[in-house]
Amino acid sequence: LYVDQPLAPGATITLPVPQSHYLAQVMRRQPGDVVRLFDGRSGEWAARLVSVGRKAVTATLEAASAPQEAVADIWLCAAPLKRGRIDWVAEKACELGVARFVPVITRRTIVDKLNLDRLRAHMVEAAEQCGRTALPDLAEPTPLAALLRDWPAGRALIFADETGGEPLPAVCARAPAPAAVLIGPEGGFTPEERAAIRAVPQALAVTLGPRILRADTAAAVAVGVWQALVGD
Ligand code: SAM
Repeated sequence: LYVDQPLAPGATITLPVPQSHYLAQVMRRQPGDVVRLFDGRSGEWAARLVSVGRKAVTATLEAASAPQEAVADIWLCAAPLKRGRIDWVAEKACELGVARFVPVITRRTIVDKLNLDRLRAHMVEAAEQCGRTALPDLAEPTPLAALLRDWPAGRALIFADETGGEPLPAVCARAPAPAAVLIGPEGGFTPEERAAIRAVPQALAVTLGPRILRADTAAAVAVGVWQALVGD
């Protein structure tokens, strides 16, 4: 379970409300039970429950039970989508081992208000479910122009372009970490945006096949293929 405070051996901590509720009400854990906690930075810890209340569970940290995971350096830069779909993308990004998730504001982005706390909560749940000990870094929503202007020199920009590009597996062979996948909104990038992306020296335009995928499908496929061929 995720705890939003640094963990250290011997410390007694109060778990956050959702995790406390889960242990007390869903799992019916008792004082003396051992659970596994992570803080996103220091691996996984065995912790013994001291008190179990409806809204607050306390636990004492005992020993490290797993080291901090090594994360392949892949970012997902994707335009926000309607609520349910962007939540799904955040969840899959975490499950697929993304190191950083950047919401990108484009001309055709229809979601102007993005709830980062809700996205983070989805990533925490996904990390707990899939056994990650590192949460993806969640960036502030970034306009496409700023993202491209400040693009890091050594990071490949794998641009999923439904109008055509190289097959993704071929590009993966040339784009080891650090890399990023860029996915457009439901309406796609405008021609001007596509030209600006392709003008970035690190950009590698890829096709994900002859069918137009939904943006959420495209994000999961592109990151999943990169992880299978290059990552962990
Ligand atoms: N412009 C399109 C339209 O409205 O017909 C749809 C855009 S698609 C739903 C959303 C995003 O998914 C695209 O901007 C692209 O990044 C990615 N995408 C979808 N299908 C793709 C494909 N076959 N190859 C590469 N990228 C794809």
